[in-house]
Amino acid sequence: MAKKQFKAESKRLLEMMIHSIYSQKEIFLRELISNASDAIDKIYYKALTDDSLTFDKDNYYIKIIPNKENRTLTILDTGIGMTKEELENNLGTIAKSGSLAFKNENELKDGHEIIGQFGVGFYSAFMVADVVTVISKALGSDEAYKWESQGADGYTIEPCEKDSVGTEIILKLKENTEDENYDEFLEEYRLKEIIKKYSDFIRYPIKMDVTERKRKEGSENEFEEYKEEKIINSMVPIWRKNKSELTDEDYENFYQEKHYGFDKPIKHIHISVDGTVRYQAILFIPEKIPFDYYTKEFEKGLELYSSGVLIMEKCPDLLPDYFSFVKGMVDSEDLSLNISREMLQQDKQLKFIAKNIKNKIKRELESLLKNERDKYEAFYQSFGRQLKFGVYQDFGRDKELLQDLLMFYSSKEKKLVTLNEYVSRMPEDQKYIYYATGETIERIEKLPQTELVAEKGYEILYFTEDIDEFAIKMLMKYKDKEFKSVSSGDLGIEEDKAQTEAEEKENKELFDYMKEVLSDKVKDVRASTRLKSHPVCFATEGEVSIEMEKVFNSMPNNQNIKAEKILEINVHHDVFQSLKDAYANDKEKLKLYTNLLYNQALLIEGLPINDPVEFSNDICKIMV
Ligand code: ADP
Ligand code: MG
Repeated sequence: MAKKQFKAESKRLLEMMIHSIYSQKEIFLRELISNASDAIDKIYYKALTDDSLTFDKDNYYIKIIPNKENRTLTILDTGIGMTKEELENNLGTIAKSGSLAFKNENELKDGHEIIGQFGVGFYSAFMVADVVTVISKALGSDEAYKWESQGADGYTIEPCEKDSVGTEIILKLKENTEDENYDEFLEEYRLKEIIKKYSDFIRYPIKMDVTERKRKEGSENEFEEYKEEKIINSMVPIWRKNKSELTDEDYENFYQEKHYGFDKPIKHIHISVDGTVRYQAILFIPEKIPFDYYTKEFEKGLELYSSGVLIMEKCPDLLPDYFSFVKGMVDSEDLSLNISREMLQQDKQLKFIAKNIKNKIKRELESLLKNERDKYEAFYQSFGRQLKFGVYQDFGRDKELLQDLLMFYSSKEKKLVTLNEYVSRMPEDQKYIYYATGETIERIEKLPQTELVAEKGYEILYFTEDIDEFAIKMLMKYKDKEFKSVSSGDLGIEEDKAQTEAEEKENKELFDYMKEVLSDKVKDVRASTRLKSHPVCFATEGEVSIEMEKVFNSMPNNQNIKAEKILEINVHHDVFQSLKDAYANDKEKLKLYTNLLYNQALLIEGLPINDPVEFSNDICKIMV
């Protein structure tokens, strides 16, 4: 029998194929099962238009048969089979897809689920096999043929016997090497694992004889093994089912089965889009932060399926970083895959899906906030930080999308509130959205800077996370209201301004002297409008606040960025009288007081004082 040669370029392609296209050897099974599924689909589609054919679902299946003695793995299907010509054309020519041709011939545009399109998947068999034998009998033909190849050097075709229509692909597995163990593809558990992983949602049953144990008849504790044919795949993917058929429990089971997390998800989102790009998705918002969330190992992403076949375990492009906590999967028939399927050929459809998903998650979170506030707050405790990062990321590109999902602790409500809630109850004379920063709520409560704003009856948002102020600076405004720190130089509260200015003038020399004492440690020393009961605090001017200075200081490449600090003195405090007396009578004392007040202001802010020993000595000086 003459050996036919692969076309010249095919030879090289095959080499390339075997060695480089697929990242993992186990992929071969996914490819062969996909082909088998396509072959059954073809009968199904033919039966739709051909009255002489009936499609009885029970007769169609795929069977996986490992044989340890012969070291062969057989993939059998009851699909449409191949004629001699088809064997030659489809398997003898790399990059020729009979399936793509079938789709085109039958004008299957809608509802088609045929997977094949590149005409290379079949050859992945050579990653694990030395010899590949294909025995096939085509629908409507009396003859069967055997195609056989040992890889790059060509193939043979000869007539053979086969009773029923369909195809059997027999892989003679390669010998084990030091690095590769091909025997694993004969192990039941491993085969099950691979089928579950990639082909769980193939629509036809994938059967295998599975070893079971049962008690020996007439014996108490002796067991015997026997084989039983089992269906390995779940076939109908939950995401193809109608939402109304599914219960919360179904979704939770899916979450657990998929090992998306150990917790119970707060919410599931089931999407089914039938537009220009068709896709289905099931997404979950977890309740708890995954244990590895803040480690380098954590990878964001959704599982990506194409027509029910897993092509990527974590597709990062489907989720923005600020939604990286979302778990789940996407299945689309409309993705342009490249031949390895692990890489997406062009990401237009993917981008479209990602954008859709992003908006959908946002809407769902919003409705959670509106309708199930407790749940939302639990979610926000875990992942609010991500959302704030999202506002800040990419120069605020998505800040508008995210702003209504933000929550901050309120001085008035003593709980988390949204920006919308804050703004909608602002008194008419209030110009800004006020916030105060600090390590904890308790510490902020005691901040002297909050006194005036609080006295005015204005609500203050407490920022306790380092990201808060950065996010808000990026946001700049919410509903046309600017954000204002209670520490900022100008609080925008007019009425007290005139009085403070007068006091300022009156004591100008004293303040100038104090400024001289502190030299460039502060930008200015001033009379305070905001202080009511405390003697001293810092206000800041410019873009960098004291909290931001702390964040910058904690960074590894500390740029020594400092806030422009203004030392504010409460002229109505008894301490001020002492300052005035010292200015008149004892300049050394005034220096001492000035340094003390400056260090007090630092301590109130939680900033380190330059020289704690000197500070301690200074205090001793006033005690004796
Ligand atoms: P693709 O699936 O992308 O078309 P493959 O290399 O996987 O490419 O398969 C090439 C072609 O061989 C298929 O398009 C199909 O026509 C044919 N083929 C492969 N496996 C089978 C099978 N089990 N039954 C019928 N035809 C098959
Ligand atoms: Mg294929």
